[in-house]
Amino acid sequence: MSSVPVRPKDRFLVFGSPIIEQDEIDELVASMKTGWLGTGPKVARFEADFKAYKNVAHAVAVNSCTAALHLAMIVAGVGRGDEVITTPLTFCATINAIIHTGATPVLADVDPRTMNIDPAAIEAKITPQTRAILPVHFAGRPCDMDRLCAIARKNNLKLIEDCAHAIEAEYKGYTTGTFGDLGCFSFYVTKNIVTGEGGMILTENEAYAARAKTLALHGMSADAWSRFSDQGYKHYWVTEPGFKYNMMDLQAAIGVHQLRRIDSYWLRRKEIWNQYNEAFADLPVERPAEPEPDTRHAHHLYTLLINKEKTGRDRDEFLCAMHEQNIGSGVHYLSIPEHPYYQETFGWKPEDYPHAMRIGRQTLSLPLSAKLTDEDVDDVIQAVRICLKSNASHESTKRILKERK
Ligand SMILES: *Cc1c(COP(=O)(O)O)cnc(C)c1O
Repeated sequence: MSSVPVRPKDRFLVFGSPIIEQDEIDELVASMKTGWLGTGPKVARFEADFKAYKNVAHAVAVNSCTAALHLAMIVAGVGRGDEVITTPLTFCATINAIIHTGATPVLADVDPRTMNIDPAAIEAKITPQTRAILPVHFAGRPCDMDRLCAIARKNNLKLIEDCAHAIEAEYKGYTTGTFGDLGCFSFYVTKNIVTGEGGMILTENEAYAARAKTLALHGMSADAWSRFSDQGYKHYWVTEPGFKYNMMDLQAAIGVHQLRRIDSYWLRRKEIWNQYNEAFADLPVERPAEPEPDTRHAHHLYTLLINKEKTGRDRDEFLCAMHEQNIGSGVHYLSIPEHPYYQETFGWKPEDYPHAMRIGRQTLSLPLSAKLTDEDVDDVIQAVRICLKSNASHESTKRILKERK
């Protein structure tokens, strides 16, 4: 029997639950009433609003960040025979997008403090086949862009930023997604702003944008995007075999209102982030590194590292204990070389990327949605303290862990 109190709520706090407000609902219903569900005027408006927010020349909306990454690499000329250097501490989509271009992903370990790709590790992995660098601004913390840009310039490499965590992030006064050749964004349900599924490509390069737009809609000539409008019928011409990656108006209807509130959501997440940071200062856990001066952290994830030697409980046990307190948490991420496909295909071993491996095995992300109430935040804080104090696992925690094996 355990005397550990359970969160006094019958409601489970879902990790990464977005705020959807009345404007989104009304806009979505309006789209449905017009019958224009697919790619149309609202997608064009969302692209215009997003590129104005980021102050970039071209924006192409697509149906995911995975699609954005895939297209960005293709238009940048990445393909068979090339190598693309990226981080082992990312979502599998980053790696899969490289593989789908025909190129080979190459991993460079992260800095253990910032959790971002280590520029020195990149330099050690450059070969004559290296074509591009694909950094991820992990958890919303901007990468060391001075060094990444210098490495790209010196070695004549394309630089494509995975900004899935980092819409709002800035580095020395410049906004993420604008340092390299192309920037890719996600509006998946757990991201900083959402469209359900959705993504965006940003670039200053007009030819890249035009080709990405064509490839996102079957490779049909750009006119195809307006072919069903009242301008009269137009034939389309397939100029290369493309993909089905276009965003729908139903998605953009949500996005245009989410984007208007991006700063207030960011401020709320920053406030929660700071509350967590203060509340856990005395606990035997590793908190996120302080944001770098002259940068803006996007505060996408609040991560704790759970070291069994210090807490008496490993990350998975801690995760289950949090679940029992009715708090959902996330793992971002088991390092990429932990997965069987990559081990078998590329011969990767977790131990070869020791910093990403350690973080992946110890990390846990707490709820950080702008939707959280003050009471939710207090509940999360209380749950973390309870779970760290009680060394003995619950009976049910033990059972869950056993079933997992
Ligand atoms: C979520 C995420 C992606 C994929 O985004 P989708 O929009 O779901 O395709 C890619 N990279 C990182 C780092 C992510 O977190």
